[in-house]
Amino acid sequence: MSLETCKPGTIAAWGGEETPLAFGAAQVPIVQSAPFAYPDIDSWLDVALLRADGHIYSRNTNPTVDVFEEKIRLLEQGEAATSFASGMAAISNTLFTFARPGDRIVSISDSYGGTSKLFLEFLPQMGVEVELVETGDGDALDAAIARGCRIVYLETPTNPTLKIIDLERAITSAKRAGAISIVDNTFATPINQNPILLGADLVVHSATKFLGGHDDAMGGALVGSAELVRQVYHYREITGGNLGAFQAYLLLRGMKTLELRVARQNETALAMARYLSAHPKVEQVFYPGLESHVAHDIAARQMRGFGGVLSFSVGDDFDATKRFLNALKLAHRAASLGSVNTLAGPPCTTSHVECSAEERAQLGIPETLVRYSCGIEAFEDLRDDVAAALDRV
Ligand SMILES: *Cc1c(COP(=O)(O)O)cnc(C)c1O
Repeated sequence: MSLETCKPGTIAAWGGEETPLAFGAAQVPIVQSAPFAYPDIDSWLDVALLRADGHIYSRNTNPTVDVFEEKIRLLEQGEAATSFASGMAAISNTLFTFARPGDRIVSISDSYGGTSKLFLEFLPQMGVEVELVETGDGDALDAAIARGCRIVYLETPTNPTLKIIDLERAITSAKRAGAISIVDNTFATPINQNPILLGADLVVHSATKFLGGHDDAMGGALVGSAELVRQVYHYREITGGNLGAFQAYLLLRGMKTLELRVARQNETALAMARYLSAHPKVEQVFYPGLESHVAHDIAARQMRGFGGVLSFSVGDDFDATKRFLNALKLAHRAASLGSVNTLAGPPCTTSHVECSAEERAQLGIPETLVRYSCGIEAFEDLRDDVAAALDRV
């Protein structure tokens, strides 16, 4: 049986682990070694010159890291994958591999805060022009892409207001313009959405979030065509943003339960979004699974589930929002998302910590917004916890 044709839950458990592991281990060992030693120079040379399989140095490749790359490759159904020390390393290495002075990148105004900094600060410094289109305006995105660009960079659902981009439409425009399309699939996870099946050239992930799922490891991944991934791998092996073996081990351990966790988180987030929509103390609820979401039909077409993250505005001012957040018992007030434990916070300390208050206002992110990432707890307990905290507003 080929894993390529298996369902995601099977791939999560077995992907990359079919080949015999060292000493017959049933689980992937942590190969905690920087260099790999050879009995003689000729066998070392064979590996160095790619005449034989093997590892030379862990900045390039490492057996534990290889398994992580193969598992995410299978889950995203791409030709090749590589990995990074963090999601931002994946994103920056990918963009810096392809962007040249004079190039144009088209993206959306709601991309992740760190990515947004690359677009507004670091890429322009290198002479790369970046046009950010209002998220969700498909016509404006098509028009910006049609003006010509080297890269189309997309993210959906977005952070923290869960806006949706029509991937198939944007990717079709990118192809017509001869641009490389890159999709950040961190929020959706490969369980809910596979951009490569919708035509994307490359998919990036912060593995720190749902993939690892336990808030104990950082990492990033890139999946896509073999030729494009090879170029990014080359940039990364030289610039050194590689994933460590121990981090890869923790991510692999987490990924075994990815499908189970995400199924539960999808369910809880939808139930929570419905509950909050009917609550008199909640102004707005942003969740693509709600029929009232402006792009619910697009989300329903391109996603199998709507994800574990929602956001909503609480209170008339930031003080009231803080009272709500401080009263939560079953949520870490912490950055990050996608963990087994529920996490909650305002955008000024989470997704858009890198942005100033003015920049957040420009992006239409209210200061009273709460980003709530559902963990795997029982929905009833989370609902009661949120209800008690809303009483304090
Ligand atoms: C967290 C996050 C990143 C950055 O990942 P790190 O692992 O923190 O570097 C990128 N994109 C999205 C959507 C994220 O949520």
